[in-house]
Amino acid sequence: MFNNQSKNYLNQELSEQDLINIITEEVENILNKDLQPENTGLQFPKIPLGISNRHIHLTAGTFHTLFGEQTEFESLRPLYQPGEFASKHTLTIVGPKLRSIPNVRILGPLRNYDQVEVSLTDAIFLGINPPVVNSGSLDNAAPLTLAGPNSSVYLDKCAIVASRHIHMTNKDAERFGLKNGDYCKVRIGGEKSTIFENVLIRTNDSWKTQIHLDTDDANAANVRSESYVEFIGKM
Ligand SMILES: [Zn+2]
Repeated sequence: MFNNQSKNYLNQELSEQDLINIITEEVENILNKDLQPENTGLQFPKIPLGISNRHIHLTAGTFHTLFGEQTEFESLRPLYQPGEFASKHTLTIVGPKLRSIPNVRILGPLRNYDQVEVSLTDAIFLGINPPVVNSGSLDNAAPLTLAGPNSSVYLDKCAIVASRHIHMTNKDAERFGLKNGDYCKVRIGGEKSTIFENVLIRTNDSWKTQIHLDTDDANAANVRSESYVEFIGKM
């Protein structure tokens, strides 16, 4: 299990911080290896893919209105991005034609705005016309009713289709020659190979580099989660 280099580490007097630094560096090397085209046989660098199914972000206030003051907001499982999680709680979302989609999961942690991210297929089914925007841009968002076990809430501006985006650390962005707010092109190979344009770069050093596509985009390219895209370049 240990290679020679690891054995050498064990012969030295190392502080806990030294060990943390060594492990961090090793993990970064492994992760970065995947992002280098020469290590993959592909023409372009790889970026891990996450597919976002429809989901909800809520404020603590709206959560307690829908679920009752006594209900605690609880995690079901962690997501790929550090600190983010799928909660145990789901809601039914209802559009103006009274068509509804049940079991839409609330993601944590709770935020300072209420937002429902849907696919265009969902939007057509629900009878709403949400804008394609970055998460948190709710000025032109579409209305929906959220139905919970304690009560329901009509939200005038909550539904959006999230822009295609890549979460990146600033270090990774720099390596790709990118900065926060840039747009890029990515490719997905295979039977339904597809190039996606207008992919927004969002940077934050607490994130792990990963592209987020919604289910419509993922299905168009016939790709599943735990796959990757190829980074073609800046637009
Ligand atoms: Zn995202």
